[in-house]
Amino acid sequence: MKIHEYQARELLANYGLPVPSAEVITDPAQAAAAYDKAVKEAGLSPTDGLVVVKAQVHAGGRGKAGFVKLVNSSKDATDAAAFMLSNRMVSNQTGPEGLEVKKLLIAAGVDIAHEYYLAITTDRDTRRNVLIASAEGGVEIEKVAEENPDAILQQPIDPLMGLQPYQSRKMAFDLGLKGKQVGQAVKIMTALAKLFVEKDCSLAEINPLILTPPTDAAPDGQLLAIDAKFNFDDNGIGRHKDLQAFDDKAEANPAEARAEEFGLSYIPLDGSIGCLVNGAGLAMATMDTIKHHGGDPANFLDVGGSATEEAVTEAFSIILSDEKVNGILVNIFGGIMDCDTIAQGVVNAAKNFKNPDGSTGFQIPLVVRLEGNNVDAGRATLEAAADRLPTLQAASDLNDGAKKVVEAVG
Ligand code: GDP
Ligand code: MN
Repeated sequence: MKIHEYQARELLANYGLPVPSAEVITDPAQAAAAYDKAVKEAGLSPTDGLVVVKAQVHAGGRGKAGFVKLVNSSKDATDAAAFMLSNRMVSNQTGPEGLEVKKLLIAAGVDIAHEYYLAITTDRDTRRNVLIASAEGGVEIEKVAEENPDAILQQPIDPLMGLQPYQSRKMAFDLGLKGKQVGQAVKIMTALAKLFVEKDCSLAEINPLILTPPTDAAPDGQLLAIDAKFNFDDNGIGRHKDLQAFDDKAEANPAEARAEEFGLSYIPLDGSIGCLVNGAGLAMATMDTIKHHGGDPANFLDVGGSATEEAVTEAFSIILSDEKVNGILVNIFGGIMDCDTIAQGVVNAAKNFKNPDGSTGFQIPLVVRLEGNNVDAGRATLEAAADRLPTLQAASDLNDGAKKVVEAVG
């Protein structure tokens, strides 16, 4: 699960990390008041204080896309807000269709002496979490990783001992931090490591972590988190009420959200052959076998071990809502799942499916392979409905099914 920047900032603040305060708005008419409030709280000039307006979407690269704007007046804040809320954001992380922006964050702008990168994620090679940092943080971190990998520093985190203070101190010195900055950095890294584990994160990233220029009150400057991104392990979400409240359904892919509602795991892909399978392993084997015969799967869809007839009907309608789909392979091995339940679902979906010309019933090729629990009843159900399923072909096994659907799709 992903969350918005304003939610990430709230989470960081709860763990004691230094984050400037911010407001969220949904309408350009709210921008002027948010500007006034931000400059007032930060003690900046009410007429030309620096304020940042930022699109809240589940994607980065906003700065380069023009969806992070620094403004110096309430009028410019309003204009920036109007632009962002009425244009889709296309960045290097969104794909060409871009994302609709529904919320904006408005915060007092901070002066930046230096931008750092700081993150924790899991390194699958070493099977450990790893603290990653760079003195070349900011909007070009992907380029740094590619062109100057030595500028990306790492400290592996022992799974039992956790991130040790000496590791954070070493990281701070390696980043070139000095004086009071080191203590600030250690506190930030320690808190981030605690948050990462306690909230079942798969990624916790602060980019940039900034250093402010020196002042009389803080001669070494101050480290602040001004952008953050989190991903969470979906299998851990069930035990975090606070994270569940962060789930923004409006940002999710509509087909994926519908699938989740019915307990289906669905991942859209680029191909043309829709797959309806029970079990993640079988679903992957099905996709591989389709590929082996020269076809391209349109999706991964696991209806699970105990899907209801409604869930199966829904699974078909999700697959068929993808316009690229011009053939479907149903591959069911009935263990817990009753093959007849799947067969009933197929018949229902076929009966109810509306074609663009107003007629009902599948027009695209449908290949069904059923095996296992109650398979005879399942096959009988399909045969009894044969007049409604003119494009149906039965397959004897997975290989036969994949071959038939690839041939039928052409
Ligand atoms: P991203 O492009 O989606 O990662 O958005 P960020 O929030 O990281 O902002 C991109 C860049 O905008 C940062 O790296 C900063 O250089 C700049 N920026 C963001 N907020 C401020 C601010 O308060 N003051 C200044 N001076 N620059 C900012
Ligand atoms: Mn950023």
